[in-house]
Amino acid sequence: MVYVPSAKESAHFPVLKRAQDHVRIRFTALESLLKDPKGEILAARAADRIQEAISPRKVFNPTVPGSAEDEIAVYALSRIMASCINDRQLIDRLTRYESDRAYYFLVNEEEWNQNYKQEDGEYSRLCIALAGELGIRITQDRMPLVDYVELVAPLHEDRFRLVNRRLDKGSVEIRKDERYELLRERIRLLLRRDLPHKVPSSICERLAPRATQLKRAYQDQMVQQFGEIQEHAFPPCIHALITALAAGTNLTHAGRFGLTTFIHAIGMDTRAIAELYGRSPDFDAEKTMYQVEHITGRGGSSTEYSTPACAAMRTTGLCLNRDALCERVNHPLSYYKVKKREAKKEARKPEEKGSGEKRPVKKNPEERT
Ligand code: SF4
Repeated sequence: MVYVPSAKESAHFPVLKRAQDHVRIRFTALESLLKDPKGEILAARAADRIQEAISPRKVFNPTVPGSAEDEIAVYALSRIMASCINDRQLIDRLTRYESDRAYYFLVNEEEWNQNYKQEDGEYSRLCIALAGELGIRITQDRMPLVDYVELVAPLHEDRFRLVNRRLDKGSVEIRKDERYELLRERIRLLLRRDLPHKVPSSICERLAPRATQLKRAYQDQMVQQFGEIQEHAFPPCIHALITALAAGTNLTHAGRFGLTTFIHAIGMDTRAIAELYGRSPDFDAEKTMYQVEHITGRGGSSTEYSTPACAAMRTTGLCLNRDALCERVNHPLSYYKVKKREAKKEARKPEEKGSGEKRPVKKNPEERT
């Protein structure tokens, strides 16, 4: 039987094909939509959605405001707006937000939706139908090995490793709660793969005031988040690049790119970055400034490049001297954040010992980034 999501399910899971059809319809008429008051309201809600996505703490509202159709339009507009901003990290934040939101509904809907409560197991059928819509073969308690391997590749937790799984005739056994996690990952991948959209410049111009505001808010937040620069918290790959520079080694293009985008993201200004390259044997101040400004989006182009994730660093041979913390992150900036946070906790310990107070250890949900 063909699965037809209800209006509410479409609003909760706008990644579904039905919602994408909706996006196509809207995209053709987007310019005229944005000109009318309704379009303005939807654009404001789309900007709010991105703002929520970039906030450090995410709170999902179980009640979707307005109609399901509006909700899907807001989802689509937020993706269009993020494409106009065209910042890779912001796009990553938005796709993670959307997949976390879908996960929230998957996990919680069971508890507050009376319809699903009436018949035990109904929710499982929704989950399986969603998986089918999203192109993964998942049943009550297993999925094909080939699908599983592809899906868990970016996940770092040990329990997802094949050596820790029970295999049976080409399938991998999975628990109910893991099914939701795997669906979340699938949604994240699908959403990330499609972005950025190629948006006509006339539409980006119309969205520009909100997009500029969001970009500024995101940059301010990044600076706040990373705070004071602490070199001891740099990941091993970045240490290796700085050590190579200090030893007078010429960095490869990928090395310069990785280092520049990293130290720019944590708040070092363009001139200080260029100075760091001063020890390079082929140092050329003007050329270095030009390259740095180009990468950091200050040199005429508005594109600000993002720091490559660990997977990309590995591909270019820059993932060096991995340590235990590297096992828990998939981005050099996540490494830096976690290490700073842990150093801060360590520094606080003597005070806590002194007061004899024991504090509960909370796992930060952002750690797996
Ligand atoms: S795993 Fe990531 S953070 Fe660690 S060294 Fe490799 S690229 Fe750097």
